[in-house]
Amino acid sequence: MQETDTADAYARLSKNPTGRKESCERQLREIGQAAARNGHRITYRAKDDNFSAWKRNVKRPGWEAILQRIDAGLCRVLYIYSYDRMMRQPRDLEELIDRAERRGLIVVTAAGAARDLSNYSDRHYLRGEIAAAVHYSDANSAKSKSAHRELAEAGHPHAGGYRPFGFRLVSGRMMPDPDDPGEMIPAPATYVVDLAEAESVRMIYGEFLAGVSPGRIAERLHAAGVSTVTGVAWTSRAVKKLLQSGAPAGLRLHHGVVAAVGTWEPIVPRGQWEEAQRMLAERAAPSPAAKHEYLLTGLVFCGREGCGKPMRTMSGGVKGYPSYSCSARQGYFGCGRVDASSARVDLHVSRRLATVVDDPDSARPGEGRELQVAAAVAARDAAKRQLEEIAEDYGEERITRVERDAARRRPAERLEAAERVLAERRPDLSLITQGKRWVDMDFPHRRAVARACVERVVVAPLAAPNGGKWDASRVHVDWR
Ligand SMILES: [Zn+2]
Repeated sequence: MQETDTADAYARLSKNPTGRKESCERQLREIGQAAARNGHRITYRAKDDNFSAWKRNVKRPGWEAILQRIDAGLCRVLYIYSYDRMMRQPRDLEELIDRAERRGLIVVTAAGAARDLSNYSDRHYLRGEIAAAVHYSDANSAKSKSAHRELAEAGHPHAGGYRPFGFRLVSGRMMPDPDDPGEMIPAPATYVVDLAEAESVRMIYGEFLAGVSPGRIAERLHAAGVSTVTGVAWTSRAVKKLLQSGAPAGLRLHHGVVAAVGTWEPIVPRGQWEEAQRMLAERAAPSPAAKHEYLLTGLVFCGREGCGKPMRTMSGGVKGYPSYSCSARQGYFGCGRVDASSARVDLHVSRRLATVVDDPDSARPGEGRELQVAAAVAARDAAKRQLEEIAEDYGEERITRVERDAARRRPAERLEAAERVLAERRPDLSLITQGKRWVDMDFPHRRAVARACVERVVVAPLAAPNGGKWDASRVHVDWR
């Protein structure tokens, strides 16, 4: 945990899995308790009292205030109730990551899970959780739940299927019906720890956290004569599945996200489970040497004055990472002076494309739209001029680096807001997306969306050597 004793807290009115309201006050109370356990003092509280923090057009003053505090460097540790209470859209997370990259931010849930947004594997893991929360929210609104399922999401075991390794399933005793105290009803089933198997669960966790591969762990279990709940030999896949499952840590998962704390005793501490998830995400993360796909092949152009040539994809272009490069090598006629990490450029453009794809209703065509576009064009050009002047002032040493960074913030925000508006001038994408969300689309379809929406992407040269720091303002997108 970061060396600081103050933190911010954010709560949003929402419904819990059983459909009951969870008030902001209750969330803030639990958040406060979690912060106290970690030695943090909550000095700023923000909340949004409506149900739809994930809807694009709904104002979220509480959340906006938190973002501004992050930008101003006032918020370094943010407590939230849970990830899906914080945000329901991947782009909300991307927005947060963008800001956290500049300032650093640790996000802690009321259940105690901490994520450092400046850390690659933490970001990777968080993206997975938010993506799952989006599905979860869709599933929630799509159908109402049976009483049976409500019980499950209150932390009771799965009905049916195999028991989790390490536990035995016991059916519940009789208990008074909470809705009708005169009646006795069977209590829900729960798990009890199987002592012998629990030893193996601890061994699996211990080895994995010590860096032993799932395949090697499976071999050791086999050598020790331990088999799975179905009586077959352990495999690397089975070990990974056990590490991903919530039962050993006393957690009830839903779509891979913690839905509730289970009614049973855990075998391993939650912190170990969290760490294992982080390590699994890291293992799944692509290495720079792995096959890389380029979202914008053929659409990227050099922004160096007098060049403007198409940039080609190079697998080892920037510090050994895949890039878009203005190559001067044989057969290419570029200037050889401009390149940029393709992952960075692709991510930058993807965020906008995700907005376009995920909110088919967000465009406001017709009356007022022309005015809106004209205003956005004017705002964009003004912001660009302002950014150029700031760069010039810095180049001439009229202002310091700190002053430059501070001066850039507002125009950069205005530029982004204007470009978001302009990004909404777009063709009908439904034939490509087939109603899917960006996170669910495969690469060829994403590339098709990019081709439909993007006229060209211009990557400007670095203004001055900056130690390889990524500067998103180098990327300019001409939308169709
Ligand atoms: Zn060039």
